[in-house]
Amino acid sequence: MWMSTFARFATRALSRAMACQALRPHCRPGKNPGHLPSCLTSVQHRGLQSVVLASQHASHQVVSHVRSLDEERLLEVEWEDGGQSLYPFTWLRDNCQCPLCTLQSAQARELLMCDLDIHTGVDTVKVTNDNKVSVVWPDQHTSVFDPEWLKKRCFSSAARQSMREELFLNDRYYWGSNLNIPTIDFHKVLHDDKAMLDWLLALRRVGVVCLKGAPAELGQVARLSERIGYHRLTFYGHTWQVQDKDMANNLAYTSKKLSVHTDYPALMFPPGVQFVHCLCAAMEGGESQLVDGFHVTQQLQREDPEAFQALTSLVINFTDTGSDYCDFHLNSRHNIISTDNEGQVNRINWNNATRDSVLDLPLHQVQPFYRAVKVFTDMMDRPENVVLYRMEPGQCSCIRTLHILYAIIKKESCKTWI
Ligand SMILES: [Zn+2]
Repeated sequence: MWMSTFARFATRALSRAMACQALRPHCRPGKNPGHLPSCLTSVQHRGLQSVVLASQHASHQVVSHVRSLDEERLLEVEWEDGGQSLYPFTWLRDNCQCPLCTLQSAQARELLMCDLDIHTGVDTVKVTNDNKVSVVWPDQHTSVFDPEWLKKRCFSSAARQSMREELFLNDRYYWGSNLNIPTIDFHKVLHDDKAMLDWLLALRRVGVVCLKGAPAELGQVARLSERIGYHRLTFYGHTWQVQDKDMANNLAYTSKKLSVHTDYPALMFPPGVQFVHCLCAAMEGGESQLVDGFHVTQQLQREDPEAFQALTSLVINFTDTGSDYCDFHLNSRHNIISTDNEGQVNRINWNNATRDSVLDLPLHQVQPFYRAVKVFTDMMDRPENVVLYRMEPGQCSCIRTLHILYAIIKKESCKTWI
């Protein structure tokens, strides 16, 4: 849910010139270029700019000339601004936008692979009077492409990077103990679209946002999740209470010390965001700890590449067993640090409590694994990496579970998932 619907919503909203203000009160000393929120690092500035630019690029594109490069089987489009783009014939035919090839109401491809000639040539290409790109295929089927649509899908490295950012908002703000957690009013998020967008953008970029002013009663997290999507049901139910229980089926239900962790590595696909809504503050303790997993993995890669390599390559078992909303017995296998095909860290899977005693590694990799984990967890625990804060009744912490490590030291709160 998160990646697609949020990003598409956010970029549409950005194209309506909404600017992220959510982080403004949380600045550290630094530069503040123009209208951008003054607390963001250059990493985040780049991200926001690229999103806005991507939307701007898509408007008012004018095609000056098209021609087919038959030998290369490419369509060349020259833009009035001087640039040019190349589009493979096969891709163009595959993505014909006509009502026969695309279900308009769903914007879904109807053309079947069995009907796609991946070696197709073209008959004629031209720019239409209304500045669209027309391609007539050898069977006389005609495709007409909107120039904005085409430009956004240009195959150049820069255009693909821009589109990737627009769709997935990948740039991150990395933080340590001096983070001032972005804070937004709960009711504004519920009733004001711009506040909601600010909230979502901050959540995406920073990984954690506090909402203040929610009623200190059950049901608020449901209102919040319904504002943007729907709850994800887990074996703990739609929502669950973090409180001490006899025969606890989770360490979170005891008073024992919890080290920071990502939630639910025992699931193959953990929920992307969790809401922690404080109903009443503990008499003593009750602090929450947060660690930016991406920030720590950057440090790990820099300071101990061997440990980083071990944790990105060794696959570790996680398990969780109990009875709650339903009986459950979960097993999963993950790298503790997951990377994408470009080597960028995209997820942390770490929960010491549910790390399985089944260690499915060859003997010679066991000690290197423990060494790497020890280095990683020691790094998480460095004071400069830990944000410590105390929730007040009515406060709701929104946390991205795929890279923010979190723990409540002593707890009386309600927790839920989307
Ligand atoms: Zn078609």
